[in-house]
Amino acid sequence: MDKAYNPAAVEGKIYELWEQGGYFTPKIDKKKKPFTVLLPPPNANADLHLGHAMYVVEDIMIRYHRMKGDPTLWLPGADHAGFETQYVYEKQLAKEGKSRFDFDRETLYKMIWDFVQANRGNMENQLRRLGFSLDWSRNIFTLDPKIIAIVHQTFKKLYDDGLVYRAAGLVNYCTRDGTSFSDLEVVHVEQTDPLYYMKYGPFVLATVRPETKFGDTAVAVNPKDKRYKEWIGKEITVEGLLGPFKVKVVGDAAIDPTFGTGVAKVTPAHDFTDFDIGKRHNLPMKQVISFDGRLTDLAGHYKGMKVKAARELIAKDLEAKGLLDHVDPTYTHTVATCYKCGNVLEPLPLAQWHVKVKPLTDKAKQAIKQKKIAFIPKRFEKIVTMWLTNFHDWNISRQIVWGIRIPAWQCKDCSAWTVTRGEMPRSCVTCGKSNLVQDTDNFDTWFSSGQWPAATLKTTKPGDFDYFYPTSVMETAYDILAVWVCRMIMLGLYATGEVPFRTVYFHGLVRDSKGQKMSKSKGNVINPLKMADQYGADALRFSLVFGTAAGNDQSVSEDKIRGMRNFANKLWNIGRFINLSIQKNIPFYDDAMHKKLTIAHDKRIISELNMLVAGVTKNMEGYRYSDAAKKIYDFAWHRLADVHLEKNKERFAAGDTQALAVLRHVFFMILKLLHPFMPFVTEELYQKMPGWDGTPLIVSRWPKT
Ligand SMILES: [Zn+2]
Ligand SMILES: [Zn+2]
Repeated sequence: MDKAYNPAAVEGKIYELWEQGGYFTPKIDKKKKPFTVLLPPPNANADLHLGHAMYVVEDIMIRYHRMKGDPTLWLPGADHAGFETQYVYEKQLAKEGKSRFDFDRETLYKMIWDFVQANRGNMENQLRRLGFSLDWSRNIFTLDPKIIAIVHQTFKKLYDDGLVYRAAGLVNYCTRDGTSFSDLEVVHVEQTDPLYYMKYGPFVLATVRPETKFGDTAVAVNPKDKRYKEWIGKEITVEGLLGPFKVKVVGDAAIDPTFGTGVAKVTPAHDFTDFDIGKRHNLPMKQVISFDGRLTDLAGHYKGMKVKAARELIAKDLEAKGLLDHVDPTYTHTVATCYKCGNVLEPLPLAQWHVKVKPLTDKAKQAIKQKKIAFIPKRFEKIVTMWLTNFHDWNISRQIVWGIRIPAWQCKDCSAWTVTRGEMPRSCVTCGKSNLVQDTDNFDTWFSSGQWPAATLKTTKPGDFDYFYPTSVMETAYDILAVWVCRMIMLGLYATGEVPFRTVYFHGLVRDSKGQKMSKSKGNVINPLKMADQYGADALRFSLVFGTAAGNDQSVSEDKIRGMRNFANKLWNIGRFINLSIQKNIPFYDDAMHKKLTIAHDKRIISELNMLVAGVTKNMEGYRYSDAAKKIYDFAWHRLADVHLEKNKERFAAGDTQALAVLRHVFFMILKLLHPFMPFVTEELYQKMPGWDGTPLIVSRWPKT
């Protein structure tokens, strides 16, 4: 054995041994209950970050169950990451002086496909680098044709069941990126803007958006507001920049009497609250802002101006015309912004496909109530239920090309829609004519990834779905609880009648040593691959689980990782000592030897070892990985190395058979307990021990309690 442990020389070789040996692929045994985890598929096109390294928790579960003898499947996958990837690709096009509008849809899709395939291997090799024991023989991509077919089927089923409808809704639209976002993807930012008090017929009313005045189709007051009660139902004439116009006064409880003067202009085409008011009072929609962020024909000579410039000019013109009462320059409010480019999002009217969520959330809540899914930590059960209660109908249309195109065709003759399982329909289901055009939109990425557990297992290998579904544990960061975990429960129950997983385990976010979020601008980002190269993947893995319970944020620093590297070195030194001390054939420690133990030191270390095995096993069963890690660390370093090795030095030096047999046994057991956490160094040491039975540690049996 080398004098010092060199992870760089060992880890790649060991991973290859595991992969070549086929140890990641479960042997299906119908008599045994499988243990299944699906890796949340990382973006195929991007490098892994420290958040992905937290999936080490899954590898720990997987390796533990594999050693227990369960048929164990950890399914890898790659996500096409629709909008994210198209965004990156468009940036690259921009560098070449091009844009997506220079290509037709098919060409652009093909170009992004090639771009992603060229980069995809990086992410997968990085997962290998971290030691993740994924079954690569079942590796799957979110845009594999079989997955697309299942996503189409689900959409068709929802449509046939009346759970999908097309509606002109308001969408949060980024006029810079040219796509809409779901509520959950919007970043809300507080900002200060001028609040304009406009003279508006007989009223004065406050607005931050005078430029949408051309789209006003009513004025609203709270019906309980005594000041304006008499006006409700009346029509008023308002002087505008393009001449006078008439609107109705409506009473609506959505109006806050304490905001401004208690009177509000209603612009159903450009404000979510106003859209709802418009629906309740049957108001017309007038779109004054177009999808390129400029004012439309309805804005008269302001047509073509960008929103912000138009606002400033219109405010000036209102003032010149004597229509501006006063301005409050320090009004602070919250605006919706694009999480990609930071642009303020425009609420714009667009016909979109929506999923009627209530029937789905009701079933999901019922399943949770019936304890069909366990949450770790337990407090997340309430949070998930709360999200499910508050979901609005889900807009699943996205104006991008990178992803799964919606299998819906509109008839040019009668405007009706025909939905299929992906195949081009021969004729319109309504009028029978064949002048059909496919929807240019794609599905929201979460619509397809929300079907991941069933969709993958139905396509990987024959029999997989029947055997591995529902999966055992869904392990993920708590920040995608609403967008992903809730949707998987809803769509999984809908498509299969069963929950997609029995247990959900949430890990926290990774923060720096001061508890701050890692970000490029703060310069505190830790690159997991660099750390693995420098200190070994084992050290990185151990530092990610050490000292943190499920669901809590985790502090990691290079110092901590270095400390865990020292622990790996300590193990190496113990192993090397045993290796050098055992020069002859030493019998294996067993029950017979146990009965003959005479030396107190041996008895004591064995009894403590048995307690350790029981304690760690209990922690593993209870998902308390940090506790397990700490127990093994303390025992190996402070009991075995610091005390037992020191106190029995002479016996080892003299080649005492019993002392060496006990020592080797204790060390073997430590390697087994530690293997799920630090798989590389434990495997290497295990195979180097005199008397190794030839079975790799990864598939050796977990110690009996
Ligand atoms: Zn944007
Ligand atoms: Zn038709």
